[in-house]
Amino acid sequence: MAAGRQIEPREIVQEGAAQLRITWADGRVCRYRAADLRRLCPCAQCVNEWTGERILRAETIAEDLTMQDVELVGRYALCFRWSDGHQTGIYSFRYLRELCERAEGTGEDDREES
Ligand SMILES: [Zn+2]
Repeated sequence: MAAGRQIEPREIVQEGAAQLRITWADGRVCRYRAADLRRLCPCAQCVNEWTGERILRAETIAEDLTMQDVELVGRYALCFRWSDGHQTGIYSFRYLRELCERAEGTGEDDREES
């Protein structure tokens, strides 16, 4: 029954200016900090499209960065307008879910060591 099921958010809530909470259809709740999400921006200005290499340097993003706006993109993604003016990143639900599972460590052996 779970096969091929789409990862869909049931609820998307902005908690204050710098945190987003997503409740997924399967009941999982994920919280995201604005600065963390901004650093993981998947747009072509932040990540090299061909090599997948991250161009954006994490330290250039302020810890107190906020989200000024969150918009749905179709039925599959979110687009943020950050307080630093950046707004070209499209965060698919699949990507957001992945980030959450990675952050919480679901037993997978791929920790970030940069
Ligand atoms: Zn970007």
